[in-house]
Order: sequence, then structure tokens, then C-alpha cells
Amino acid sequence: MRVMQTLVMISGVLATSLALAAAGEVKETAAMSSKPGNWAVTGHGADDTRFSPLSNINANNVKNLRLAWSYDFDTHRGQEATPVVVDGVMYTTSAWSKVQALRADSGKLLWQFDPKVPGEVAAHVCCDVVNRGVAVTTDRVFVGTLDGRLIALNRHNGKLLWSAATGEGKRPYAITGAPLVAGNRVIIGNAGGEFGVRGYVSAYDTRSGKRLWRFYTVPDNPAKPFENDAMRRAATTWTGQWWKDGGGGTVWNSLSYDPQLGLVYFGTGNAAPWSGPLEGGERGDALYTASIMALHIKDGSYAWHYQTTPSDVWDYDADQNLSLTNLKINGQDRKVILQANKNGYFYVLDRTNGQLLSANAFVPVNWSTGIDLKTGRPQVNPEARYDQSGKLFVAQPGGLGAHNWQPMSYSPQTGLVYIPEQQAPFPYLKDKDFKEEPVGLNMGVDLATTSLPQDPNIKAAIIGSLKGALIAWDPVAGREVWRADHPGPWNGGSLATAGDLVFQGTANGEFLAYQASNGQPLWSFAAQTGIIAAPMAYSVNGKQYVTILAGWGGVFPLVGGELAFKSGRLPNRSRILTFALDGTASLPAVEMASVKPLPAPPTEIPAADLVAQGAVTYARYCGGCHGDGAYGGSLLPDLRASAALKDDALWDAIVNKGALKNQGMIAWGDSLGVTRTQAVRAFVISRAQQGYAAQTAAAANH
Ligand code: CA
Repeated sequence: MRVMQTLVMISGVLATSLALAAAGEVKETAAMSSKPGNWAVTGHGADDTRFSPLSNINANNVKNLRLAWSYDFDTHRGQEATPVVVDGVMYTTSAWSKVQALRADSGKLLWQFDPKVPGEVAAHVCCDVVNRGVAVTTDRVFVGTLDGRLIALNRHNGKLLWSAATGEGKRPYAITGAPLVAGNRVIIGNAGGEFGVRGYVSAYDTRSGKRLWRFYTVPDNPAKPFENDAMRRAATTWTGQWWKDGGGGTVWNSLSYDPQLGLVYFGTGNAAPWSGPLEGGERGDALYTASIMALHIKDGSYAWHYQTTPSDVWDYDADQNLSLTNLKINGQDRKVILQANKNGYFYVLDRTNGQLLSANAFVPVNWSTGIDLKTGRPQVNPEARYDQSGKLFVAQPGGLGAHNWQPMSYSPQTGLVYIPEQQAPFPYLKDKDFKEEPVGLNMGVDLATTSLPQDPNIKAAIIGSLKGALIAWDPVAGREVWRADHPGPWNGGSLATAGDLVFQGTANGEFLAYQASNGQPLWSFAAQTGIIAAPMAYSVNGKQYVTILAGWGGVFPLVGGELAFKSGRLPNRSRILTFALDGTASLPAVEMASVKPLPAPPTEIPAADLVAQGAVTYARYCGGCHGDGAYGGSLLPDLRASAALKDDALWDAIVNKGALKNQGMIAWGDSLGVTRTQAVRAFVISRAQQGYAAQTAAAANH
């Protein structure tokens, strides 16, 4: 009896001291985040405002900003991460979910971690093999991997502490977003909305890696018991047998957290497939897809949701970053959440309860005529419902979004939000013969018919319509204050600083600084590659630095192909670039990109019906990486120049047998069959012949 009591006492003391140690760590992690020189969370803080309080680098002296150091990554795929810096050490991810720790003042590598993501995973993700960064505590670094693992590393040496598989079933649950630490929980969502997954967000114990809760964003088959009342309510808003294609609603990007309210915030992705229910008929609201949501951090229970795009059929993911701040609206102090949504509207919500306060278009919008502030619902243009009309509709914005994952920033000094805005309309047409498949993109739209027309005039007009800019937006007045136009879309995220500066990188390889208050261009640096990531700022021993990851990539160059050339033609050179006022480093001289002429293609003209079949297969299974028209925009090789077009054995080895599967080119012969891959070859040969003929004609005209 006495022994038992003593044992119980000892285990009680142990449990208490473990809990106290964990509580101490939570406190220290919070303290670490609030040190002004640190940038301890990808979004600067859990409020994701991306505002640096540092002002040593400012509008008066930014003209003297120089490269202090650079660090070359071992990859040539897109870089989307925002690094974090804690007490002089920088932690970042690079493509393929690799992690690096470096001295923040010199760029000296301290340790690196490679989760060894299998290369063939690249065939089962939509948008490049990217990663958007880590989360850290006093002694740990967390990273999500492209193959769906959440991993904890020792912050001081990079050694693996634990690894949790976050996926369910056989579907490809990827992770590209940065995790978020909230107290002793690390929160993560998943990607895969175009690959038949059911969206959810999960919390894990930072110490043990044990899963504490999971909140599904879409309901399962209603024949099964609902996980909670939120799922029961959501199920009434769906039609057809949505669960067969997972439903979508993925939480693939941004998370924010309000410790006072105990709420974690995130956006959810499109309903799947894009074009409505698999069996036809009208899509309902499809909760909680295309929504901004809040959950109670303690147990992952539903707090509120606001659906930005009910009955989404345009891929209007609401996963863009969510900035938390306080604003005076109509004379009242409000705790708000701000988002520049893919669908073209800038939303201001009350973050305590999800009440819509305002929604104003920040780009030209044609899918709706406005948002009814009473009901919170958009007034949808009936013509935009291509799923119902069966007719083609060119929507503005398109699926690339008026604003995508490239984070916006908010400056409490200027009261302005700095949005990497873009205008890239997309032609939507329902695929009447759509069937769900275990490989490739399950979108339900007819990509072959709507691919970029080869008529040079139409092509030029479409490419000409693409735009991109940095806009300064007043979230209270709901209007644009200034803008800086760029050559095209798919530019980087933004950073606002207390030095009255806003920084942004561009797709055509410039890293720029503007005066935050008025948009005056003040500084630029030639980065030798397209930039899509967001900058951040920190200080070491009182000296301020600004850092950005350079490295062209992401969904636009992969899918957009020739469209992406509107923004820039620079190849990927993946690097960390760090700047200081007294920097003395420089980049090695490189040959800037020049367009290589196409080699002569095979001369035999492939049969037209074979080319047409190949175009359909290509659009669904190949175009997601190799671009519309058989050439990825400066990221992957131009297939029209491939030696395999003239070499049966080489084509068979690469396309059918998977000789390049380590780079994501899986054995398509297994899943598609050789008849279909041969048709793809005919299509690519046809594109090569068209391209070569156009090149010859252009040369003759000169
Ligand atoms: Ca999506």
C-alpha cells in the first residue's frame, strides 16, 4: 500500500515536472518571438503581418543596401520559403522539403537536413516541389515534407527527433506550407485538392509528435457517423457522392494564431473536382471549401467559418495568408483578420466571430458583381457558371488567383497592406467526359480545348492580357493607394518595415524596395533568377539584414508554359540572398538567358486524330508540369527540343518505363498505357513542328 502510494506520488511529481518543463518552453518560445532582432515565425509573428519593427535600413539610406552574403541551394526547382531567424541563426527550407541552418550574419552552413522525399512524388503534386518554411521553438525545428510527413528536428544540430505521417488512405497528401507553433502544439495542413484528397488540419504535440486533434474541412460519406456537428451541417450543403473524390478543401498554405482568443485561423482550398459533382448536377455551397476558418486551439473544435466563394467551381482557394491586426472601423475598434483572396476580393472580418466587415475588389472581377455585406454572399454572374451553361467562360481572376500564396504584408505605420496582385484570366469549360483517375490532375475541366491557341495573333492577345503588380491597399477605406506595375504575374511576396520600406522580388529577377507610404521606387538588385518567395528582416548584434530566397518556379512556369515568359525568361538559380548597408559580396557573373532555337523536329507528320487524342491526355497528365503546349516556362526542359521525339528507345525508357522517375517523371506506361503515351508523343511532335515552322518563318522575315 505504502509502496503503491509512493509510486503514484513519484509518477505524479514526474508528470507535473514534465508539464512544467513544457510550460516553461512554451513561455520561452513566446519570448523568443518577441525579441525585435528575431524573425521567429515565417509570417514574423503568429499574426502573419510580415512587418519588421527594424528601421536601421530605411527610406533615407536604402540606396546603400548591398549584398552581404549568398548561399547556393543544391536544387533548381522553385523556392517559396520565408526563412526564420532566432538569436543569430537562420533556418529555412528549400525545394524538396530540405532544411538548412546557417549563421545569419555570414551565411555559413551550420547543419542541413534532407528528408529524402522520393522523386516520383513530384508527379502527384500540383505546383512544383516547393516548401514555404519551418516553425521553431527554443529547441526544435518543424518541417512538413512533400510526401506528407511532419518532422521535428533538434534546433541545435538538425538531428531527427520525431516524424509523423499526416496522410490518410492511398491518396497523395502533400505538405508545402509552413507549420505553425501555438503553445505546445504544432499545427499543419495538407495539399492535394486536385488529387482526390479530403482536406483537414491537424495538431501534434511539439514534444512527443503525438497527434492531438484533426479537423476535417469537408464531410465524409454521410452513411458513416459524422466526426462532429460541423460535419453534420456541412454535409447538407453538398450534392452527389462528393466523398468519392475526397471533396478537397485543403489547408495547403497559411496558418495564423491569436493566443488571447485561443483561435487558430486558416483558409481552405477549392471543392473537388473544380467543375462540380462527379455525377453532374449542381454543386451546393460545399462547406467548408473556399472558406476562412477559426478553430479552438485546445481541441480543434469549430469556432466559426466565412465562406469566401460558396459553390466554388473556379479553384478560388482561400489559402492566401491571413493577417491579424486591430483596426478602427466605423469608429469602433475591431480585432480583424485581413485577406486578399484568390477570387479578387479583399476581405476584412471580425476575427472573434467571423463577421464580414467589408469585401472590396482589388482587381477587375467578372465572375461576380460584388459581395452582399448582409448575407456575406457574392452576387455571381450567371455566365460564370460554366458548369451549368456547358459553355466556355473566361473568368477574371482565373485559377492562378488575383493573389496566391505569395504573402502580403501589413504595416501598422502606414495602415496599408502590400499585395502581390496579378491578373491572369482563365478559360473554364466543363469536361463532359470527365472520369476520376488515381493519377494526374482531377479537375473536370476541358484543358485540351482551352489550351493556348497557336494562332499567333490570339496567342499574343492572351499573353498581352497578363498583368502583375505590387499594390498598396487601404483595408479601412477599401481602396488602392499606390501601385507598382511589373512585366507580368507570379511575382514574390512582400515585406513591410518600420523604415518606411516595402520589399518585393519579381518574376523577371529584380529585388526591389519602395517607400511604403507613397510607392516611390528606391532601390533594386539584379537577382539573376525569378523571385517568388517573400523577404524578411532581422538583426544580429544590432546590425539589420534583409533576406530573400531567389529561385524561379511554382505552378505558373510549370503549367503556364509560354504564358510564363510574359513575366520573365530567367532560369532557376536557387539561392539565399542577404543584404546589409555595408555589404561587400557579389554574385558570380552568369550568362543571362537567351532563347535557344528549336532543333529540326521529326519530319513525318503525325495523324491528326492521334494528335487530338494526345492533346487530351497531355493536358490532363503532362501539362501540370510540362506546360501548356509542351514547354514549361523556363523551369523544365522544352519537350519540343527533346531527343526522345526522334528516338523510340529513349522515349520508351523515359515516358513508359520511368528512367527519370527520381526527378518526378514516373513510368506513365504503367498508369496510362502505351497507346496513350504514343498519342502524347504525336502531340508533342506536332507542337515541335508548329514551333519549328514559326521559327523558320520568323527567321525568313528578318
Ligand atoms: Ca486549388
